[in-house]
Amino acid sequence: MKKRFHINRLDHQLYISKSVLLLVLFILSIGLSACGEKSDNSPADSRLIIVGFDGMDPNLTQQWMDAGVLPNFSKLAAQGTFHPLATSNPPQSPVAWSSFATGLPPGEHGIYDFLRRDADTYSPDFSISKTIPPENILNIFGLNIPLDEGQIINRRQGVPFWSDVESEGGRSSVIRVPVTYPPDPIHRMMAGMGVPDLLGTQGTYTLYTTRSLAAAGTSSSRVVRMRPHRSGRIETSLEGPTDPLHEEHQTLSTPMILEPTAEGAKIQLGGETIELAVGEWSPWIRVEFDVLGPISVTGIVRLNLVAAYPRPQLYVSPINIDPEAPVVPISSPADYAADLAGKIGLFHTIGMPEETWSLNENHISDKTWLEMLKTNLDEREAMFFDAMTKNDSEVLVGVFVQTDRVSHMFYRGIDPEHPLYPETDELARGAIEWIYKEADRILGKVMAEMGPDDRLIVLSDHGFAPFRWAVNLNRWLVDNGYLVLKAGKTQSGIAFSNVDWSKSTAYALGLNGLYINRKGREAHGIVEEPEANVIKARLIKELPRWTFTPPQATQAVAVEDTITTEAELEAEVEQEVTPAPGQAVIRQIFDGDVIYAGNANGDAPDLVVGYEPAFRASWQTTLGAVPKDLIEPNAKKWSGDHCITPEAVPGILFTNFKPEQPISQIAQVAAYARKHWKQNQAKTP
Ligand SMILES: [Zn+2]
Repeated sequence: MKKRFHINRLDHQLYISKSVLLLVLFILSIGLSACGEKSDNSPADSRLIIVGFDGMDPNLTQQWMDAGVLPNFSKLAAQGTFHPLATSNPPQSPVAWSSFATGLPPGEHGIYDFLRRDADTYSPDFSISKTIPPENILNIFGLNIPLDEGQIINRRQGVPFWSDVESEGGRSSVIRVPVTYPPDPIHRMMAGMGVPDLLGTQGTYTLYTTRSLAAAGTSSSRVVRMRPHRSGRIETSLEGPTDPLHEEHQTLSTPMILEPTAEGAKIQLGGETIELAVGEWSPWIRVEFDVLGPISVTGIVRLNLVAAYPRPQLYVSPINIDPEAPVVPISSPADYAADLAGKIGLFHTIGMPEETWSLNENHISDKTWLEMLKTNLDEREAMFFDAMTKNDSEVLVGVFVQTDRVSHMFYRGIDPEHPLYPETDELARGAIEWIYKEADRILGKVMAEMGPDDRLIVLSDHGFAPFRWAVNLNRWLVDNGYLVLKAGKTQSGIAFSNVDWSKSTAYALGLNGLYINRKGREAHGIVEEPEANVIKARLIKELPRWTFTPPQATQAVAVEDTITTEAELEAEVEQEVTPAPGQAVIRQIFDGDVIYAGNANGDAPDLVVGYEPAFRASWQTTLGAVPKDLIEPNAKKWSGDHCITPEAVPGILFTNFKPEQPISQIAQVAAYARKHWKQNQAKTP
């Protein structure tokens, strides 16, 4: 039998060696014995239970409470409190949940956006975690053998409240809270947003097709062209991680075979043969990538037959790290993931498993995507209630992110002004209400499972707004002379490929960040300190003055029968074509020096863009591109968002008690949790 080993990964390189593996096993054994000391299974009294529903919006919650479809939220509000909860700036999940965990503002916890920019290259970089490779690598016979262990680092600074509780003798269970990778060494933790897939990315799926499909053009997907034999049999392969031992970084792969069946297709993968009908999800399939001799790396995937023969299309999920043989630590203690898989079955381990991009690219249908999301929800629910019924932690925290993902993808179903609204069907129009009802159902289960002295906090990290217009902020910076393109260029690809840095003073990257091209900080910076303040002041003043007039609706103006004269007709037409007064694109620009005192990690943007609802940075802006137009209609299914001015998208807070101290801002939850623990300790004789 093959052995499965642990690896570390940086960018496209993997490193592995038996000595590292022995070291990892040694560390794991320390982790286990340390945990052994703590594994006091005595029941926990007066627990603090915190349930997060990512992106749950106060207005939608109130609306559906009023309609009587969220009975458990209504009951909880009646028992204690319900009010909006101020979010972080910017109102992005990694930023807000980091403030939630530590009680610190972004300037002190150091997470400012999903994406940070690498000042040496002006490239976007994942801001949540980073992997440091082993320093010493022995290069021999074409193999890269690491001589010491690499590291994975959570970039979030500060101490989360659950670690404080632990250091004072308490026990914490923390289930899938964003920005908890690698996991903290506590009583029980399943890492959330930040855990990569087996390729080291945040979720790369593969679409196999016999049609000529343009590659999606994003890093989130791979499109593989399949060529059937006359019988319909297709021999292809699933590409896995890069060979960790070879200098050439060849890709490891495992074979896959498709054959037609009456219902759909028969697929052989990972030593299993399964039959799928069109639209059907497969169970988890374990795939193994042989490295060398007895060494292999395993992951798990799910398949969906998107289209049937004669032109089959097969969707393969990102290759999740196998919870029964994790190549990187995903839980605390290290064997908790495997134990849990033994109990509830295999589950998604990747930090952001709701494969939103596959729906955005129309690679899978609304129905297929919602089925995948339901699986995710079921897994999180099983994990959370497993921890809750064990009743061995004074602090229990779980975050369900599915509320956020459905809101992103189906806002088009509740926003009549979204370009895709006319195309939505009953399923799409009801999706957000459905996930809110699911949240209510889970809340009901939590309330039923609570002890009489347990305290409950239910919160979200931000609310939601429509996303109708994609703003190419870098185009505005070019048009207004801040960002300068190379001679002869009118546009630029991602990572500012056509930008002339010797003439550029400011650039936008990430969902809300604006940076000054500072001398001494950016690789080709030109702006000196005093001038930087002048540029910032100008942008703070100019950008909120930018107005946009939406083009007239495309539906033709019906000339009604009542119009009889030429003059009446002219008047009517004129009325229709008169542009609506322009609306502001940006409500406020925030000064990073003011809102991010401390500038932890040194990543703070110089300015933060607070878009008006309905507007958001375009995907191209987030990656540092300069497309042709200033503002484009958002024709994607990702139709709701919250990366706008924070005052427009507060989250929610419910408690089953009247808080002794106000909790009006998400960062105040940590202080409440610490105080609750201290009070409980004081009560215990
Ligand atoms: Zn979101």
